[in-house]
Amino acid sequence: MANQPINNDVLAKITVTLVIGATASGKTTFIQNHFSNKRNTVILNVYDYQQAAYKEAGFGKHIPFGQEFKCLYKANENLLLDIIDTLQNGKNVVVEQTLYKAKRRIGYIDVIRNTFKNIKIEVYVMCPSDSVWETYVTERRLAHSFQQLKTEAEQIEFPNPIEGFDSIYEVVDDVIKLRMDEPKPEIVEPARKEILEDAEELRKENEKIKAKADLLESMNSRPFWHYCEVCGTKLYCTAQEAFDAGWDYPPQIGTFGLLGPRTCGKCSITDTLWWKVQQQGLPIVIEKDLTAEELKTWRRIKKEPESLLEEEK
Ligand SMILES: [Zn+2]
Repeated sequence: MANQPINNDVLAKITVTLVIGATASGKTTFIQNHFSNKRNTVILNVYDYQQAAYKEAGFGKHIPFGQEFKCLYKANENLLLDIIDTLQNGKNVVVEQTLYKAKRRIGYIDVIRNTFKNIKIEVYVMCPSDSVWETYVTERRLAHSFQQLKTEAEQIEFPNPIEGFDSIYEVVDDVIKLRMDEPKPEIVEPARKEILEDAEELRKENEKIKAKADLLESMNSRPFWHYCEVCGTKLYCTAQEAFDAGWDYPPQIGTFGLLGPRTCGKCSITDTLWWKVQQQGLPIVIEKDLTAEELKTWRRIKKEPESLLEEEK
């Protein structure tokens, strides 16, 4: 991205239009009615970017807790890149977004304004009346109740001019009204700080994931401690060397961190904790039923592969 804003007279006429609002508040229809026939205009929808991010992360309908934030963050990032790209091509862009929080909008606008001079940025906030909104919700046959959506809508911080908008419109059913509240300069600095903190947190989390993946990869070639849970033999060697000597051990046999046999070439899997647990009605580990040795094995397995790097004292 350019450090100096691009100063191009053609861009003076270019507009970024955000259309925001809660689920089923009429964003898509509004864009269809007001922008679909507009010349030189590209319409982007955050929903498409979210679906792509979920797919890329390997998730379908069910997104694990904690992963959703990452996917949404990625979706917003990719959408912003496409907005910049569209503007660079001299086109207007209309964006269907959620962006409930002022800080998210500030993050967007800062990047756009730092990249281009003379871009016009406006936002339409969908604020349907209850009766109209309820009709939309019924038509869409959503899993959410109308009351849930109302609660969702309360999360929306109404855009403030200080965020960097040239115009802010409130859309109540068919009526579009300019609504420029008193500027609230006090919201800007904390928002920018939070944006940086979010990015930093995500960077650290990604680093952790990468370090874990690197460690797991290294277990294929590095020597590490192998402990036979039956006879107590221990051996510092590579996975291949252990495998050749008849050991049942991850990564060749079983998976690090998951219960399975951990035995040398001489011992039988029928004497392992894994075997014992398989014989139970419910094959789960109940720590209070374990002997001291079994507990030691179980705790070592749970902490793999880290627990195999240093010799146990
Ligand atoms: Zn053994």
